[in-house]
Amino acid sequence: MKKWLRECITTHVECQQLQSSDGGLRASASGPRRLLHLSGSTDAPQVRLEQNSGSGALLDYAALSYCWGGDQAVKLKDKLVDSWTRGIRYEEFPKTIRDAMWMTMALGLEYLWVDALCIIQDSEQDKAEQISRMAEIYEQAYVTISAARATAAPEGFLHSRYMPGERGFRMPFTCEDGRTSAVVLWQGREPDAWEPLDKRSWCLQESILSPRVLEFGTHNVRLRCARSRADEAQLQCDGWVGHSKTFAQLGMTQPLVSSIDWQSLGEPYKFVQAWQMLVSHYTRRGLGWYQDKLLAISAIARKMSRMTTGNNKRYIAGLWAEHLGEMLLWHPNHGPDAKERARRHETYVAPSWSWASCSGEIDFWYGSGMHLLEFVGCEVRTAIPGDEFSAVVGARLELKTLVMRARMRKGGGGGWGDGGDGWFLWDEEAGEEVNGSLMLDVEDEESGGEFVCERDEEVVLALVQTQDALVLKKRKKGEEAASVYVRIGIYREGPRGTDPDRWAMEGVVIV
Ligand SMILES: [Zn+2]
Repeated sequence: MKKWLRECITTHVECQQLQSSDGGLRASASGPRRLLHLSGSTDAPQVRLEQNSGSGALLDYAALSYCWGGDQAVKLKDKLVDSWTRGIRYEEFPKTIRDAMWMTMALGLEYLWVDALCIIQDSEQDKAEQISRMAEIYEQAYVTISAARATAAPEGFLHSRYMPGERGFRMPFTCEDGRTSAVVLWQGREPDAWEPLDKRSWCLQESILSPRVLEFGTHNVRLRCARSRADEAQLQCDGWVGHSKTFAQLGMTQPLVSSIDWQSLGEPYKFVQAWQMLVSHYTRRGLGWYQDKLLAISAIARKMSRMTTGNNKRYIAGLWAEHLGEMLLWHPNHGPDAKERARRHETYVAPSWSWASCSGEIDFWYGSGMHLLEFVGCEVRTAIPGDEFSAVVGARLELKTLVMRARMRKGGGGGWGDGGDGWFLWDEEAGEEVNGSLMLDVEDEESGGEFVCERDEEVVLALVQTQDALVLKKRKKGEEAASVYVRIGIYREGPRGTDPDRWAMEGVVIV
């Protein structure tokens, strides 16, 4: 592994570019606020917390990417900072952390960064500060150690990889030097199958932002860097390889995200595509969880914004204002392959027009490309005022576009509407069903809360692209009167179309 790393650092031009693409970020940056310093023997090292004043040269450190698997037994708290700078008992750490310490020292490094141990977990201020620096922490790491095969911190990742639960054969083998050993043949999983770590939401950005990831998978250990991500054949791995199928053969439309072509983001089309792909993969991880939804992807958003400076890209609650026409056409996957039914989050995470307000797997509709809406303005209140990438506490989006009114009806009609549970749109004036496809954000009325319609309730269709509109309903009574709406779904005009006279230019505010 040391050899792989050395080779990547000294000979891979594309990997060097990745670290210098930010204008020498690594050279100018000061590194994480705190690091664990390791010394002594690899089996029981002396560990202490070191505070980084930011003035010295950047240290070579390993960053750990792992699944917490529940609350952590050992974590940094405000009152522990002083005693930890003198030393921390090694025996206290869970196995994954001990394994990471062993690996770090074996790789010849003295410093390790672990979120639970280097961020003060009971300080909201420190958490917010460190989370806002997450992109740099992983980008500047000498290597990221990925405990991909462990589902929880007590499991560890350095142990025998022969999985008794899987069918395998151990065949005697005589080595060149005469020693007797064995070759193991096993019928395992695809080498590219999802590891436990791939299901953790925070780890997507850890993997994407790290220049080099040393991945401890279920069956093999491999180094993923810019070159090997671009070309699987170049992958450095320990020899445990399976017969790899490409993502096309696996019936997926896109490979699992492991890299972004940062240099291409100046092209609007590439930028939109990259973000949609990220959201789509991101929302397929960590299902069931939602509190950190916008935070756990914010480091990537921050970097995308940094890589396109000068373009004035504004980030609003998980969307990019400059590309609203595409960004607003998200929808949860209601297909039979969906692992979780979409629902609105129980507590506020994002406004109704943001994909982050819904659980479930998010995809995007590809519209005609013609934007019809006029972006009037957007107010986003964030947990850290002035930091658009921090958690969102409130937001209102104001658009001016063509709108049409219709009523929500259910059952009977059938017709064009394929909306959940037989909902369809009824055009009162024309006395007929609105021709088109309706896709509701939440199909299950139980889990929609205030975002579910009543029968015959009036809704507004607000055009986003030539044939695609948001479906909005008036916000519940007691709120500001007039035109404040919440989003309940999207609509695509059918082949017969609607009467152009039914649409009129109007301003709408969506929260
Ligand atoms: Zn490399």
